[in-house]
Amino acid sequence: MSGMDVAVGKGTSKTMSAKDYVSSVIDGVIAKNPAEPEFHQATREVLGSLVPVLDRHPEYKAARLLERIVEPERVIMFRVPWQDDRGEVQVNRGFRIEMNSAIGPYKGGLRFHPSVNLGILKFLAFEQVFKNSLTTLPMGGGKGGSDFDPKGKSDNEVMRFTQSFMTELFRHIGPDTDVPAGDIGVGGREIGFLFGQYKRLRNEFTGVLTGKGLGWGGSLIRPEATGYGTVYFAAEMLKAKGLSLEGKTCLVSGSGNVSQYTVEKVLDLGGKPVTLSDSGGMIYDPAGIDREKLAFVMDLKNARRGRISEYATKFTTAKYVPVDSKLDYNPLWDVKADCAFPSATQNEINAKDAANLVKNGVSLVAEGANMPSTLDAIKIYLDAGILYGPAKAANAGGVATSGLEMSQNSMRLSWTREEVDQRLHNIMIAIHRNCFDTAEKYGTPGNYLNGANIGGFLKVANAMMDQGLV
Ligand code: NDP
Repeated sequence: MSGMDVAVGKGTSKTMSAKDYVSSVIDGVIAKNPAEPEFHQATREVLGSLVPVLDRHPEYKAARLLERIVEPERVIMFRVPWQDDRGEVQVNRGFRIEMNSAIGPYKGGLRFHPSVNLGILKFLAFEQVFKNSLTTLPMGGGKGGSDFDPKGKSDNEVMRFTQSFMTELFRHIGPDTDVPAGDIGVGGREIGFLFGQYKRLRNEFTGVLTGKGLGWGGSLIRPEATGYGTVYFAAEMLKAKGLSLEGKTCLVSGSGNVSQYTVEKVLDLGGKPVTLSDSGGMIYDPAGIDREKLAFVMDLKNARRGRISEYATKFTTAKYVPVDSKLDYNPLWDVKADCAFPSATQNEINAKDAANLVKNGVSLVAEGANMPSTLDAIKIYLDAGILYGPAKAANAGGVATSGLEMSQNSMRLSWTREEVDQRLHNIMIAIHRNCFDTAEKYGTPGNYLNGANIGGFLKVANAMMDQGLV
């Protein structure tokens, strides 16, 4: 490989500066994947941190490692026909992006949401590669899903759709090949239907999906893991400054899996959550969302599948603010608070929201959702010097606990709740330490974004170098 010197843009891969090399790779990604703005954004965010690494490791440049890492190993796209309750035929599109398997089988969630497209899944799969590397577990990166909208569908419709989806997906996945999990719109119900269909088609009971039910191979703490892990990561960032979550007012967005367990762990650690939201609007409860109110939200969202507006009808201390599409900011991020836990979706915090957070005294942002902050918003956090825990580090507890579910499946045993929680907590402490130390080592102390990107990248890059041109 050392003799390789390939022409790239203005120079060659050997003579070009690290900065020009990174720019040329980003330009290439934009040119090759024109209608995928989220994928461009994720590429910029990760590659933007890597210039000091490439300065120290010219061999990555010579091996065109960045061009290889931004190209999925495999993209699968397929038709998902199914019949609704009226007997009408519906057709959705299914995807699986198998991004990188340098350090383990592809691993990452499935998302069912009408906004799903190739670019969104490629951004998620790309981020997943570095996140999984940070967990210290042997997992490659992937992501998949469909533009199917589970909202308003009956259980039978969801079952028919997921069975059709798995009827194609099953031939591409397996416990040593690719192990999907949940994400937006894919929770316990959907994983159950997906697993049932996989088992039927393969005639095999294996750990091919994570997030399974407790009675059939699932792990304790997996539903809690992303939210708990995000709060553990936030607590570590505060601890490094001699601070804690005790008494801190916290903004949480979304009201799904990640949001619910973020609220629960914030309460455990003595903080006061005051907001939640869904795609219809937000609630602000200055009295605090306590355990009784959280139990109401869990029943509302997980069993009754209702809207967050009902919270304000039930609890009169709260006010409900519906989404106003004319606003260029989200009022949820304009509430006075100490900490923010974006836990809904990508790009839910723009530059104006970030400026509002800083203005209102928020000194910590820990990302439960994937890429919830735009690049401009991130710049505002970093310029303001607030503690910023980027998604690939802060929300890695979910996939880490999926990794623990895979281990338990392979060993055919189940760990206790305390044991899994302790392992999750230790993993989050280790991820925080890795990001903190790596940021310092590469000359940007306190910059967890650089720490996470560089820390996640190095392990994957070295594995790719070892494994040759594949
Ligand atoms: P859920 O489907 O359980 O909940 C998603 C929540 O976000 C809902 O309240 C939903 O509202 C809201 N939301 C979703 N899309 C939008 C949108 N376009 N605009 C406004 N609100 C929206 O998903 P999760 O909690 O599992 O996932 C939330 C985030 O966390 C995602 O970014 C996901 O990728 C990330 N994540 C999840 C992990 C997991 O283990 N589940 C692991 C790591 C990251 P509504 O119901 O109205 O659509």
